[in-house]
Amino acid sequence: MGTHQSNRFDIAIVGAGFAGMYALKQALDSGRSAIVFERGDDVGGTWYWNRYPGARCDVQSMEYSYSFDKQLQQDWQWTERFAAQPEILRYAQHVADRFHLRDHIRFNTVVASADYQDTKNEWRIKTGAGDEVFAKTCIMATGCLSSTNRPAFDGIDVFEGEQYHTGLWPHQPVDFSGKRVGIIGTGSSAIQSIPIIAESAAHLTVFQRTANYSIPAHNGPIDEAYAADIRSNYDDFRERNKQMFAGFGADQARSDLSVFEVSDEEREARFEVKWQEGGLGFTSTFGDLGRSQPANQIAAEFVRDKIRATVNDPQVAELLCPDQVIGCKRVCVDTNYYKTYNKDNVTLINVRDTPIERLTKTGLIVDDTAFDFDMIIFATGFDAMTGSLLKIDVTGREGVKLADKWAAGPTTYLGLGVHGFPNLFMVSGPGSPSVLSNMIVTIEQHVDFIFTCLDFLRSSGFTTIEAEAEAEAAWVAQCNSIAGETLFPTCNSWYLGANVPGKPRIFMPFVGGFPLYQSICEEVRTANYKGFHLAS
Ligand code: FAD
Ligand code: NAP
Repeated sequence: MGTHQSNRFDIAIVGAGFAGMYALKQALDSGRSAIVFERGDDVGGTWYWNRYPGARCDVQSMEYSYSFDKQLQQDWQWTERFAAQPEILRYAQHVADRFHLRDHIRFNTVVASADYQDTKNEWRIKTGAGDEVFAKTCIMATGCLSSTNRPAFDGIDVFEGEQYHTGLWPHQPVDFSGKRVGIIGTGSSAIQSIPIIAESAAHLTVFQRTANYSIPAHNGPIDEAYAADIRSNYDDFRERNKQMFAGFGADQARSDLSVFEVSDEEREARFEVKWQEGGLGFTSTFGDLGRSQPANQIAAEFVRDKIRATVNDPQVAELLCPDQVIGCKRVCVDTNYYKTYNKDNVTLINVRDTPIERLTKTGLIVDDTAFDFDMIIFATGFDAMTGSLLKIDVTGREGVKLADKWAAGPTTYLGLGVHGFPNLFMVSGPGSPSVLSNMIVTIEQHVDFIFTCLDFLRSSGFTTIEAEAEAEAAWVAQCNSIAGETLFPTCNSWYLGANVPGKPRIFMPFVGGFPLYQSICEEVRTANYKGFHLAS
């Protein structure tokens, strides 16, 4: 552990994913003492934990990367259009080494509690091992998708075969060859891994509760001429991406036209172009897909037709056809997903109407039918956005617990601060555009906002900053009102907390888009942190 000898720091950061690493870099560059706590034994966060086969980004690598260092973005060469997990992890490790971050990170260390010491205006951070550090500012860089969700099926512990969760994948290769494998879930993690598991498993059985829309990635080696072109003016590319609703896709065609403004032929042709382009840009083919149910249905039917044209067995194809609004759950990006169901060794089981009853020693039971497996994979996602934060016992001013304050759902100001919790910042917390954006763009914006704010406090003689109750209430209302104008709240997504039984249903991310969010933050900054209470 570094050269800092005491247990007092200017800043304590929880998490060493992209958010925690950049926050640490900013802390050190601004001459502050800092410590990072990380549960894993290395940096990378998401890309450290999610080592399942096929894991890769769904935002293109040239965009899903840090912009804070001009030389870094010139030096690092991505090998694929959508980099795979090992390459993204190597990138995170490279950043940690390049900027000498590791000395300040305490790995294999879980933060168990953080409590605000009213009299001293500082945070006491306690680790699971009972160690304590004190810091003036605490930054929760704990990740939106870092607390795995493992449904509490009856008999969860009795299965005697191998069991894995995609979000806690082992570091050693997992061998599927000759094995009967069951996978629960058909979200992005499952959709990426199913085609690869099916290549070597003796048999793969997929348990699907909700069919998902997936767009082909058309992944491949990076086009060197394209990458060189971006590098020749990377700053401009980054800037143009920041003007995009989700912080990426500036070099891909999008349209504000309504689906209904063009002829049938042109509409199909435009969808086909976006389908062939691949990736998340499909939902930007027309401007009204996120707001108008009839428009959305037309895009949804285009994808369903693609599924029907790909999957040989019509019954399986129909089961794979989603019926919810396209985009109200995160759209998936795949390589060979639908065509995997044409393989003889792959079976799809619908558990929408007849849920998984229980696990047994040898497999699981659905609708009185027993399925025997050598291995079961939980691709069942995450307790998103609040899970990791609430696993920490966070106590704010006057003994208020974050868990109590958020009992009916999370409330924040800008997704960055919470009333009652002075000098505590979250990176991409509930109320931030986070998961609806290119997250590295959002992370950099949040961290820059936090450090500009800390500089302001330092230069103006303030020692505490805390979200005002009224500003927080207004932000929650604004988030809800914008979400209400979209189709997002129409289905049972993890954005709403609907995937975790008992979790309050609140639409958690800010849906107004990255540019609007950034301009609101800028207004707050120029008005000397309007909505925050500052005190000396
Ligand atoms: P994380 O990377 O989740 O890091 C948080 C860290 O905090 C973790 O390492 C965790 O161990 C640590 N931590 C949490 N609680 C504690 C505690 N109490 N004590 C100690 N340590 C703790 N986003 C995109 O924009 N594009 C993509 O293509 C994309 N692909 C994704 C693919 C997968 C499989 C997943 C799961 C997510 C993906 N995301 C993607 C979202 C992704 O989470 C973010 O892009 C980004 O990596 C988040 O970085 P972070 O630092 O905020 O959080
Ligand atoms: P997810 O999208 O939440 O999918 C979990 C799956 O498990 C869903 O199909 C869900 O069904 C199912 N499930 C949950 N509980 C179940 C139960 N009790 N019985 C049966 N099925 C159950 O999780 P994820 O696939 O890990 O992805 C989470 C997020 O991480 C993504 O949305 C994305 O933001 C990010 N991610 C991105 C990529 C990428 O392409 N770069 C890859 C992986 C993850 P229901 O839909 O019915 O709840």
